[in-house]
Amino acid sequence: MSSLNGGMNGRIEDWHESSSNEESSFLSRVVQLLRSEGVLPGELESNENTINCPVVRFQHPAALEENLQLDIPDGGKGMSEERLLSKLSDIIKGSVKTSHPHFYNQLYGGLDPYGLAGAWITEALNTNQYTFEVAPSFTLAEKAVLQKCLKLFNLPENGDGIFAPGGSMSNMYSMVLARHHACPEARAKGLQQCPPLVAFASQDAHYSLRKGANWLGIGTDNIIGVPTDDEGKMIPTELEAAIRRVKQGSKHTNGCATVNGTHNGVGELCGKPFIVVATAGTTVLGSYDPLEEIADICQRYGIWFHVDACWGGSLILSKKYRSLLHGIEKADSVSWNPHKMLGAPLQCSVFLVRHQGLMHKCNSAAATYLFQQDKFYDASYDTGDKSVQCGRKVDAFKLWTMWAARGDNGLSALVENAMDCSRYFLRLITDRPGFRLVLPSFECTNICFWFIPPRLRGLEETQEWWDDLEKVAPNLKKKMILQGSLMIGYQPLSNKGLRNFFRLVVTCQPPPSPSHMEYVLHEIERLGKDL
Ligand SMILES: *Cc1c(COP(=O)(O)O)cnc(C)c1O
Repeated sequence: MSSLNGGMNGRIEDWHESSSNEESSFLSRVVQLLRSEGVLPGELESNENTINCPVVRFQHPAALEENLQLDIPDGGKGMSEERLLSKLSDIIKGSVKTSHPHFYNQLYGGLDPYGLAGAWITEALNTNQYTFEVAPSFTLAEKAVLQKCLKLFNLPENGDGIFAPGGSMSNMYSMVLARHHACPEARAKGLQQCPPLVAFASQDAHYSLRKGANWLGIGTDNIIGVPTDDEGKMIPTELEAAIRRVKQGSKHTNGCATVNGTHNGVGELCGKPFIVVATAGTTVLGSYDPLEEIADICQRYGIWFHVDACWGGSLILSKKYRSLLHGIEKADSVSWNPHKMLGAPLQCSVFLVRHQGLMHKCNSAAATYLFQQDKFYDASYDTGDKSVQCGRKVDAFKLWTMWAARGDNGLSALVENAMDCSRYFLRLITDRPGFRLVLPSFECTNICFWFIPPRLRGLEETQEWWDDLEKVAPNLKKKMILQGSLMIGYQPLSNKGLRNFFRLVVTCQPPPSPSHMEYVLHEIERLGKDL
């Protein structure tokens, strides 16, 4: 063990040798540990294992802290391998098993084993994606998979893109490019050179847009929340009206100098509309905004059109469902998270843009110690200067490995299986006593519903009744987690006046089956019958 503790006795070659042997046996033991705890994909698929291994063994934060004892002592000499492995085992036991078939908590879950292989390879090589010099194969893999994504979304072949650390960052890329498009002076001179910039997204759009508006100096009040219809889709006439109001406001107020943004889009908002963000698959309801109509409006007013397809973009892989994304080919930019429905390892998010060269123009800083232009190879392969990051992980390779292994047809089949299972669940709960759907139908694999326990059924639905029902979801969730038998999310949707309801999210991995859906139904009924 001495080598792992940094002890160095004997010749340096001996140290290297014994060190690498011990470390590799340590790594093998860690893999064994992951297997025995049912963490690796596929190990929890047999029913026997799912019963023995809960999704979560919940402990309250203070209790878990007490049990795990994670403080690293000052000036110590490090743990023995045995103690460390036992500590790691406790840490894994105290973790949520997201590859468990009964984990439906958020928009991700499960892990594609090919994606994990891709992730392991790049982690082991510890590759940094900024230059061809240090990432030759992976630079080409990113190029190839971006090309494949551009084709998938029907964007021009000479478009561009990048893998970003998550959808929030991909959306931020769209805002910075749209800002650059509307006011290129901002890059060097700052926002004071620009008119106030106003963004438009639906009320049900993802909150990352507000974060982006804050970070980019746009201001969160300068995002107009365009109303959605009963199905959670942006209403195009409302979008157009909001754009006109902003443009009118600018005319009336002498260059906007004294007017601040308002959040609801009905006040005297003034400024230059610079981006419209449509959502393809909203986070809660899974609704698709009418992309074609929104694209036309953007074209009419000369506004950047971004489609946030982080969640719902995966349906474009299926011929059966891709019409939901009709019009996405007109987008200036698109964000898509393979780490959600497809089960690519976190993080794997793609940002695509139709305009060649714009990312570089907008983001480059031309660091002379990294992106030397007098390199002996074709330096246009040093793609890292398009990024806001310096060091960057090779997220593209996770998707490359999955796509290469499964092909278009394999990915499509996984998506269709997830959709089929979500439809099966929908049929199971439609008209079933105690279940009520939030929407009459759903477009994506999110199924939103209330569970009404027996004691609340058939009563007049007064304010008090809803006050009572609102507590059912958190209480039922508590029972799920304490028993470790199931994880599903719940939330209110305040812009629609909807109080706490469940959202079952079906993803591709581990491939769900009808019996998993029946399990969810029966587990909710079992845990909820006395609430
Ligand atoms: C999840 C999500 C995002 C953010 O993606 P992260 O990878 O979690 O940052 C953005 N938009 C939509 C519609 C999402 O559902």
